[in-house]
Amino acid sequence: MAAQYRSGVPDNWFVDPVQLGVPGVRRPVVEDEETQLGWQTDALCSQTDPEAFFPEKGGSTRDAKRICSSCDVRTECLEYALQNDERFGIWGGLSERERRKLKRRAG
Ligand code: SF4
Repeated sequence: MAAQYRSGVPDNWFVDPVQLGVPGVRRPVVEDEETQLGWQTDALCSQTDPEAFFPEKGGSTRDAKRICSSCDVRTECLEYALQNDERFGIWGGLSERERRKLKRRAG
C-alpha cells in the first residue's frame, strides 16, 4: 500500500508543549551542578585566601566580607547559599548566622 493511503495522522502529530517551549508553558528547569555553580567563575574569593571565608569559631569575618562587598556575583552567591542551606562560611557577604536571620525574616 502506498504511503498516502495509510492513516492520515502523521507520525509526529503528538507535540509535547513542554518540549517545544510554547509561550506560556513552562519549560522544565534544567539545573545541573555546572549551571548552578556557573557564577563561581567570577567569584572574587577564588583568587584570595579561602581560609578567610571559613574562619574558626569566633574568628574575624571582616576580611571576607570586605572582599564580598566588591564581588560581582554576590547576589548569585548568596542565593546559592540560601537555596542549598550552606551552613559554614561566608557566602555573599553574610555569615551563617546572618543568613539564618535573613531566612527567618523572609519566612
Ligand atoms: S560574594 Fe563573597 S563568598 Fe561569594 S563569591 Fe563573592 S567573594 Fe566569594
